[in-house]
Amino acid sequence: MTCVNCNRRGVTIKTTIGFQLPANQAELEAVFGKFAFHHLTEPLGSIEIDAPWPAKNIVAIHHPILPRQVEIHRFIAGPFRDAISRIAYACPDYKIVTCTGFVPRHKMHDPAKGLSLHSWGAAFDLNPSTNKYGQRDHDLPETLIKIFEERGFEWGGRWSTPDPMHFQAAKGGA
Ligand SMILES: [Zn+2]
Repeated sequence: MTCVNCNRRGVTIKTTIGFQLPANQAELEAVFGKFAFHHLTEPLGSIEIDAPWPAKNIVAIHHPILPRQVEIHRFIAGPFRDAISRIAYACPDYKIVTCTGFVPRHKMHDPAKGLSLHSWGAAFDLNPSTNKYGQRDHDLPETLIKIFEERGFEWGGRWSTPDPMHFQAAKGGA
């Protein structure tokens, strides 16, 4: 079959995450790869991943309902793109103002903590201004959450310390 997104023949794009969600750093590296990095002084907790890992693994997703391209790991590009296409029809009134995936940094921008899943492009944040870390309140339609969860993403809004902006291709403790 021909994929309408990449126009390459013989390529079948997976529309659900096709692996067990990694549950710790070792599993994360086994699935998404290992990279070398160095710390940046600004903004606090940021890192820069050394070549060639980002160019080999991070892809840009474009869609009319996304305000700008979203950079994520190539292994979850299929399910992410499929979810966004579904959401465009299923949640026509919900406006995505910001969506950021790949941002190499430590968790909570704290250099003392481990690396965030965003460093692998294995997570993305939707509309952080209305879906704030630590709050149960959020403005995401239930249908939107369901569409991502059905494709295998974990939603941070279900955690004991909720992070409703956050979706990831890993288990909570990773
Ligand atoms: Zn996040």
